[in-house]
Amino acid sequence: MLGIYVHLPFCPYICPYCDFAKWPMQRSRARAYLDALRAEIDAVPGEEAATIYYGGGTPNAYDAGELAALTRLLRERFPGGGAREISVEANPELVREGDFGRYAQAGITRVSIGVQSFVPQEVATLGRRHDRAQVERAVAQARASGLASVSLDLMFAVPGQSLRSWEESLDCAIALGVDHVSTYGLTIEAGTPYERWHDREPAAFPDDALEAEQYAIAIERLEGAGYEHYEISNFALHGHRCAHNENYWRNGEYLGFGVGAASFRGGERSVHTRDLAVYEAAAAAGGPIPSESERLRGIKAVGEAIMLALRTAQGVAFAEFKERYGVNVAERYAPVIARYEREGLLQRASDRLVLTKRGRFFGNDVCGAFVTFE
Ligand code: SF4
Repeated sequence: MLGIYVHLPFCPYICPYCDFAKWPMQRSRARAYLDALRAEIDAVPGEEAATIYYGGGTPNAYDAGELAALTRLLRERFPGGGAREISVEANPELVREGDFGRYAQAGITRVSIGVQSFVPQEVATLGRRHDRAQVERAVAQARASGLASVSLDLMFAVPGQSLRSWEESLDCAIALGVDHVSTYGLTIEAGTPYERWHDREPAAFPDDALEAEQYAIAIERLEGAGYEHYEISNFALHGHRCAHNENYWRNGEYLGFGVGAASFRGGERSVHTRDLAVYEAAAAAGGPIPSESERLRGIKAVGEAIMLALRTAQGVAFAEFKERYGVNVAERYAPVIARYEREGLLQRASDRLVLTKRGRFFGNDVCGAFVTFE
């Protein structure tokens, strides 16, 4: 299956921890970017695709009508595009009456609302500008509009966040009855104001032990409320997994449009330039978009596929890997598997390899070890 990713990089404000490709929203700039995006999409041969995902940036910084028109263009260009799912990331404070109704009419099926926290002090620390009532209204509007899935993003390891306040955010999400919850530990990204804060005052940030406890509580609370922990950071009620992201974890192919967008086709991974002016000029000229690309070959490609599969509850199915890549994972990676089994982070069933509950917290380290193992 092919997934389509579209990057919409404008935001109403810039959060101090963020290192995504993003710029402050300006109408004229945002309109010019849409022209470039349409030119890039027009220059690519159309084909069947199963999912479309608008990420950012803040996609709903654009008017609902603009997103609806873009969705129609993509669905023409990629017949079947979005047959399974069309997702939009949205900031709650920007949701206006009627927006989600227009999304639904255009074929959009899912919204992922960037909440991060329900606790006012944490919202302020993160530089976000919504309140609880706006989140509640956004979820109610999504429901009333008939969107098939509503997801919330929450963040832990936030400065000043306690176990109790983290539980409060989890409980609010559960009480809203959303279909899907993503929980991310805050990471300190190079070059951000948060990195400078962390350098000055490391004690302001939760330590690893608190972060691990917060993660464990998220699993306990969300699983207890009936959500399946189907990927390291993602929880879904039955039938509400994110199909677009599942395609990434299955090492499926995807096409990315927009500044900084990533693609994976025919074993080649490429990432568009993050220079907005360079991107727009290249797109307007009919491409190609300056990109960095890398062809994954041999055992490197297998390591990447293991890294992605291990993130999921299904883990690495030995027979599938043998069939797809011709590799006996249990034998080829025996030293790595043995090490993490000893440490209680990996476990082997007869037909597959999965992270243990504790291993999910250290998932990035464990998964990364398969990529670097020669
Ligand atoms: S976190 Fe989201 S809303 Fe904040 S600056 Fe980054 S992309 Fe924009």
